[in-house]
Amino acid sequence: MVVIIKADDLGNMTPNWERFIHMVEKNNICASIGIITSQVTSHNSIQEIKEIANHQQINGEPIIEFWNHGYDHFAELNKTEFWGTSVRYQIKHLQKSQQFFTDSLGIHCVTFSTPFNKTSAETYQALTKSPDIDILMTAQKTEIYEKEKWVEVTKKPSKYNSFRIRLNIQFLSVSDIPLNKIKKHISSMNSNGYVVVQIHPNLWDEKDFSDFQDMIDLFKQKQVQFMTPQQYYKFLHK
Ligand SMILES: [Zn+2]
Repeated sequence: MVVIIKADDLGNMTPNWERFIHMVEKNNICASIGIITSQVTSHNSIQEIKEIANHQQINGEPIIEFWNHGYDHFAELNKTEFWGTSVRYQIKHLQKSQQFFTDSLGIHCVTFSTPFNKTSAETYQALTKSPDIDILMTAQKTEIYEKEKWVEVTKKPSKYNSFRIRLNIQFLSVSDIPLNKIKKHISSMNSNGYVVVQIHPNLWDEKDFSDFQDMIDLFKQKQVQFMTPQQYYKFLHK
């Protein structure tokens, strides 16, 4: 089984983010981090992200894959950045973020996931204007699907010749680790499948960091392979 860690909402670097990244490295695993690009404003944070993006696993893949989590994480009543907003607006936000990745971070970003796990039909239209993005991570309960151009990766991967794939987020929590849910389901998890775990390390307290370690240990006992979304994409297309 493959485990993809999806950590949301990086803006400027904080002690919590540094601690999270350090734990990922110390455990010899990998993870992915979603950046809200307009919130990365300090020179030091940009330098740090660029530096971390170069840290490699033994197989040469990055330890941390940074991905596009939108431009400003905007939300108001009945509206979020990629839900209830126009195609034009969404195109602009996607492109501004992609541009930040290339121009400021020097990173070729291929993965996207919306703020608040909210997508709309407009999002799929907007994505046609950001052809670099070929991996989308979505949550079943709150997001809509486009089936023509985006192939959903089901639990049993066979052949994925499709250019653009959609990964399902199975476990998500706002401020803690979905440890109990993972414990409950781990014995029935498909060894040929994958799970995406969505977390928010910047909101963690001591208990959450210790739960995160427990989660890693639990998965390691199950002998899973940790991968970044991009690494999993390559694995599926082999
Ligand atoms: Zn978010």
